[in-house]
Amino acid sequence: MNTIKNKKIAIIGGGPGGLTLARLLQLKGADVTIYERDLHQDARAQGATLDLHEESGLAALQAAGLMDEFKANYRPGADKMRVTDEHANIVLDDHIAEQDETHRNRPEIDRGPLQKLLLDSLKPGTIVWDCQFVSLAPLNNGWKIEFKNGTTTIADLVIAADGANSKLRPYLTPIKPFYCGHTAIEGAVYQSEKVIPKMHQLLSGGKIFAMGDNRSLIVSAKGDGSLVFYPCFKADENWAKESGIDFTDKAQVLAWFKTEFSNWGDVWLELFENANGAFVPRPLYSMPLDQTWEAQPNITMIGDAAHLMPPYAGEGVNMAMLDALELSSALTDETYTDTLAAITAFEKQMRIRAAEVADQSIQSLEILHSPGAIDFMMRIAG
Ligand SMILES: Cc1cc2nc3c(=O)[nH]c(=O)nc-3n(C[C@H](O)[C@H](O)[C@H](O)COP(=O)(O)OP(=O)(O)OC[C@H]3O[C@@H](n4cnc5c(N)ncnc54)[C@H](O)[C@@H]3O)c2cc1C
Repeated sequence: MNTIKNKKIAIIGGGPGGLTLARLLQLKGADVTIYERDLHQDARAQGATLDLHEESGLAALQAAGLMDEFKANYRPGADKMRVTDEHANIVLDDHIAEQDETHRNRPEIDRGPLQKLLLDSLKPGTIVWDCQFVSLAPLNNGWKIEFKNGTTTIADLVIAADGANSKLRPYLTPIKPFYCGHTAIEGAVYQSEKVIPKMHQLLSGGKIFAMGDNRSLIVSAKGDGSLVFYPCFKADENWAKESGIDFTDKAQVLAWFKTEFSNWGDVWLELFENANGAFVPRPLYSMPLDQTWEAQPNITMIGDAAHLMPPYAGEGVNMAMLDALELSSALTDETYTDTLAAITAFEKQMRIRAAEVADQSIQSLEILHSPGAIDFMMRIAG
């Protein structure tokens, strides 16, 4: 008998980790509900394109029986990258190079379609929207869960999949993330072909990694005709708050870019001049690589809640989906006698794997903002 038979499972957070886990558990017959803070499916614009890796994100989709849906929604060619210097001189160009095996193993899909295909795979009513988690209280051998909208529910097993600022994590460990010394700022331009044709052409439906002067700018095309871009630089942890910049005012962000990226060419300015919506500052954090905590029989965590890392190795979503695969396997593995044994084994393995990947992510963040950035990109791409 598997360890979750007749147990009511609550997943808090319907990001890629929570959605994948719900699908995988439902395939094994589990009673699972997702409680999500967003008011509905389209409440938030979904961010940039994600490359899914064969051994993690794609392996989870395969186990979830969703490869046909993935193939119908992924964006061939979106993984093609141009590496440039700070004046947009191209130093490496996937658009003319032969695709190597690494690239073929990392197809790209936009966050929106990934979310949709996962949501569509769930039984009706699996996700309950407008349920912002507030607190947990022990009840019998399980939990009473309270939401901001005043409702409560009960569950035998709670899984925290509520992302970087997890409110459930403190129920497992007091360990907090640390600041990685860099802040990125997210911006978007809609209809880039019409509005900024030169940049659109440089992007050619793929990605631009521009680096120079210990700073970076990543531009990424989305399937809806928009692009997103992320300048990133070394900054104090509270820079975004203390800078006094109003990130809803593109003139202020443009003025900041001209000063902070003063050695960069003017070619990038049109991104800021034509940006739509507010910019979002994103100070970059990681969980400590040596973190550990004692397993509990009725609560665990996956994805960014468990092992937030900077996004400079493109692994966050892949790790969240692999966590979902490994946790669903452990909880339904007949060789474990109870949930505590299953969760103990899962968490131990997850921490080791995530720490290795977080280490790579932190190193690549550092190198991409150092004088060796372009050489590093040439090495990993070549
Ligand atoms: C700028 C940027 C670029 C990135 N680029 C990449 C990339 O190219 N490739 C990659 O693999 N990763 C990338 N990442 C990392 C990736 O976004 C995360 O690792 C991934 O989304 C983690 O998935 P998750 O399901 O754990 O959490 P999330 O995707 O954060 O999902 C958490 C969910 O929980 C919900 N939630 C939060 N709080 C509550 C609450 N209190 N109650 C109920 N629901 C709640 C949220 O609304 C959300 O739906 C990037 C991250 C950033 C910031």
